[in-house]
Amino acid sequence: MPNRKYTPYSKAVYQEASPNLKTENPFEEMMGRFNIAAELLNLEEGIYNFLKVPAYQIIVSVPIQMDSGEIRVFEGYRVIHDVTLGPSKGGIRFAPDVTLDEVKALAAWMTWKCAILGLPFGGAKGAVKCDPTKLNPKELEKITRSYTARLIDIFGPERDIPAPDMNTNEQIMAWIMDTYSNHVNYTETAVVTGKPVILGGSLGRLEATGRGVMIVTMRALNNLHISPYGAKVIVQGFGNVGSVTAKLLEEQGCKIVGISDITGGYYNPDGINIPDAIEYIKKNKVLSGMPNAENLTNEELITQHCDVLVPAAKEDQITAENASKLNCRLIVEGANGPTTADADPILNDRNIMVVPDILANAGGVTVSYFEWVQDRQGFFWSLDRVNNNLKQAMENAFDKVFDTAAKFKQSLRIGAYVYAIEKVSGTLKLRGLYP
Ligand code: NAD
Repeated sequence: MPNRKYTPYSKAVYQEASPNLKTENPFEEMMGRFNIAAELLNLEEGIYNFLKVPAYQIIVSVPIQMDSGEIRVFEGYRVIHDVTLGPSKGGIRFAPDVTLDEVKALAAWMTWKCAILGLPFGGAKGAVKCDPTKLNPKELEKITRSYTARLIDIFGPERDIPAPDMNTNEQIMAWIMDTYSNHVNYTETAVVTGKPVILGGSLGRLEATGRGVMIVTMRALNNLHISPYGAKVIVQGFGNVGSVTAKLLEEQGCKIVGISDITGGYYNPDGINIPDAIEYIKKNKVLSGMPNAENLTNEELITQHCDVLVPAAKEDQITAENASKLNCRLIVEGANGPTTADADPILNDRNIMVVPDILANAGGVTVSYFEWVQDRQGFFWSLDRVNNNLKQAMENAFDKVFDTAAKFKQSLRIGAYVYAIEKVSGTLKLRGLYP
């Protein structure tokens, strides 16, 4: 366990390397951080140019016949950012407002996440521009199968392995697996992860991201010399990642003083009973009306006093506007991209430690890797084995990132990018360019 002093980088270094910090474009936000790390590493121009653009950006049309008989054509994307470390890995999201730039940013984040966790994967992401709330299960199945058929030569257990993301789930993964298997004429479970356990999914996969967030939170608290017992935690978002994180942190002795969902924030300085909140949301679908907590807005909730703030809802929640109002000592990013690039230097100047998304929420892809390994071996692990391996992988990754940040006198975020880029660029140099 490293115990070096945490020394965040200065605003000046940040602005020199990446002057355009304020941007609404997720790919540019990612590039802002990438540029700083590349500069610190003195990355050769050729390697920089190689890594800044995705290897493939595929746009497909996804035609289906709706239940009404009408033929509708949706737009689908698959971006493979990099395959230097191995076959590409990344989720598929269904959303009406998804853009190619968003998918490009998410694909690059997957490259860095896999590198940080030491997984033999490159990064990818996919999407279909559709509104799943306006589609029935049959139409969703058709979209999934049509999208998979279009990408049949791209996907494969040795090539590109999808997983669930926003608005996609185990059932959708089962349809992808079945479509692919029918094309190749044998059952290939390892083509996709996040499947139902009965179809070759892994135990522990559903809880993996939240469990990973809990593991790195424990590591960071230890480093800051804050005892987890009674440490006050606020979790924004109470879906898969947020609810599991809250539950597991409570089990570690933390006091969860605030939780939230789309309906608002719920705050109780004496602590919220998380199993009760989970039961409540199961029954009521939302947290609205939950007893024993004061109702605040999401914006108000994240500025309440706590030791740890876990944004686990969506992107762009911690911004240059509210970063100076936060009242916490540690932020652990359960969500992807919850902090805008222009908030980074403010948090650093305030000495708030941030465990970045590309490390903190990588528990999901790590257990996806375990699922892929189990499928390829045809040998399935116990839950204990999955969780122990996850703990080891997350702690090891945290320590590597921490050491890199300390070595370069940077934040953990920039440390994470430096560590990942160093690994991918070092491998790239050894492999060389083909042809
Ligand atoms: P989810 O859909 O299960 O839950 C999202 C939660 O956020 C819900 O409680 C929702 O009500 C809440 N929410 C939505 N908009 C909000 C807003 N404006 N303010 C406050 N709360 C809001 O999603 P999830 O799977 O838990 O994912 C959450 C985040 O974690 C996303 O950024 C996702 O990309 C990231 N992530 C998820 C996984 C995973 O394995 N599920 C892995 C890595 C990263």
